[in-house]
Amino acid sequence: MNANWSRNAFVYLLIIVAAAALFINIYQPGDAPDQISLTQLAKAIEKGAVDTVIVRDDEVRVTLTENDTTVISRRERNVPLTQTLIGLGVKPEELTEVDIKYEAPGNAGSWLTLLINLLPLLFVGGLFFILFRQTQGSNNQALSFGKSRARLFTGDKPTVKFDDVAGADEAKEELKEVVEFLKEPQKFAALGARIPKGVLLVGPPGTGKTLMAKAVSGEAGVPFFSISGSEFVEMFVGVGASRVRDLFEQAKRNSPCIIFIDEIDAVGRYRGTGLGGSHDEREQTLNQILVEMDGFGTDTNVILVAATNRPDILDPALLRPGRFDRRVTMDRPDVSGRRAILSVHVRGKPIEPGVDLELIARQTPGFVGADLENVINEAAILAARRNKRAIGMRELQEAVERIGMGGPERRSRLMTPQEKNVVSYHEAGHAVVARLCEHSDPVQKVTIVPRGSAGGYVWRVAERDRVMVNRTYFMDYIAVALGGRVAEELVFGDISNGASADIQQLTQAARAMVTKYGMSESMGPLQFGQQEELVFLGRDLAEQRDYSEEVAEQIDAEVRRIVNSAYERVRKLLSENINKLHGVANALKERETLSAEEFEEVFTAV
Ligand code: ADP
Ligand code: MG
Ligand code: ZN
Repeated sequence: MNANWSRNAFVYLLIIVAAAALFINIYQPGDAPDQISLTQLAKAIEKGAVDTVIVRDDEVRVTLTENDTTVISRRERNVPLTQTLIGLGVKPEELTEVDIKYEAPGNAGSWLTLLINLLPLLFVGGLFFILFRQTQGSNNQALSFGKSRARLFTGDKPTVKFDDVAGADEAKEELKEVVEFLKEPQKFAALGARIPKGVLLVGPPGTGKTLMAKAVSGEAGVPFFSISGSEFVEMFVGVGASRVRDLFEQAKRNSPCIIFIDEIDAVGRYRGTGLGGSHDEREQTLNQILVEMDGFGTDTNVILVAATNRPDILDPALLRPGRFDRRVTMDRPDVSGRRAILSVHVRGKPIEPGVDLELIARQTPGFVGADLENVINEAAILAARRNKRAIGMRELQEAVERIGMGGPERRSRLMTPQEKNVVSYHEAGHAVVARLCEHSDPVQKVTIVPRGSAGGYVWRVAERDRVMVNRTYFMDYIAVALGGRVAEELVFGDISNGASADIQQLTQAARAMVTKYGMSESMGPLQFGQQEELVFLGRDLAEQRDYSEEVAEQIDAEVRRIVNSAYERVRKLLSENINKLHGVANALKERETLSAEEFEEVFTAV
């Protein structure tokens, strides 16, 4: 707005000045003195009709004695005027009677004329300049596309510290060394220690990799340059490599500092796999990164930190010694980690006295730092909407469920009484079986209020994170998953499609028992299928079949056997405790939600 205005004003000013200049050039002042030739001047001098002569440059201004009029004559600049006049027949004594003055050529005057003559040119030039600027403005990016867009977080304002990253103690321990090096490089250099050049932060999204990288620079008090791997690839061909060059150049000038490359897998994936296309461009970018890293002398105090959640697809060249040879894992936090993250995020927020963060931490297995931050934020929003002064336990619990189940309660969807009946028995089935199985996690809550994609659910909470899992736990897990389906069958003699998620879970568990953990009786302790599983990602990337059709059939039979035996067990359990099933289901139909205590009360009452 402002810039626009001043540019417009500039244009108007130029137009006015140019118009004035043209006017002056065309209309010379009307009462200009008469022109006479030098011969006429000579004659006038002979006649004694000349009073004074002022010579300035090539102009000869003559004042005539007769009524004081002024006339102008022109002369040749480098010939003295007196000589010319004598040549024209004026006698020297006649010349002495005339007062001839020489004036220095008036600079000001000629400059002004020059300026006035140049103005139209300036005007045109200015116009071109403005037009050029305007076109440039619209595609500024295209003109500066080679420049790295690394943002500079200045080292004198480090905001994030290790204290802000909770629960990642091992990672912090490893990174402390990097901080020390950035702070006192000479100490390491004096001992000839090889300094790490690259640190790879590995872990699932939301575990605080970016946060950790910032904390390292914050602790060391050095600038932080960050760029995302996908930014390298997003523009024109050939730009990625030049961006890398720019980034490193800028960083070296500001050393000691940190270069953070987020999502490095976007550029650093296996070369030549043909996955993802445009690998020429990526390859060039990757090569440039490698070249720059190798070009670091031992005196360059720049440390590269990269983050990825797919270390398996990184090009081996990136992971070689002298490159990203340090690997720091940022895992999903365990109970105490979650507890610590929650405390970090409630700092400075009003919390009601009764709030038990320990319990919230136990209720959120699998949550990463970003989820937990989200929980606190949701709870704060809920508290504000309820016009409360502080965040209470109720808001926190609701936030956990909301984030854990994906979406707020869908109370608006009306259930038919028939549906409500089925869902109540289904969930009661899960809950009762869970209560009866020794190795199942305790029931925390049973509800038939639909949430996310689930029609209702039984919420169980592990007392601790399970690291080692026994065969009996797997069998109980499968049993609880079957509880819903079996309850429907026992009570209604019919089954609904509501159990599909349960069935998926229990099939997976049964298969894993046979193929992965060697827990089946007939197949023995063998692993079938090479699973490239990344523990911290919690998922199988690909399974390579390394067994015969015959074995495949055996596996299927074994899985079926496990599930069938669990099914029989659950049928027996629920038939024997059918009163408890009815009791819990009726309580659910009535109250919709049962807390741990209410459930226990109903369960033991019948
Ligand atoms: P990533 O880069 O691993 O995907 P981020 O660093 O972007 O994860 O984390 C997102 C947000 O989650 C952070 O800004 C922070 O608020 C929160 N967070 C994640 N991990 C932690 C942690 N260990 N301690 C405190 N906050 C965390
Ligand atoms: Mg990140
Ligand atoms: Zn179910």
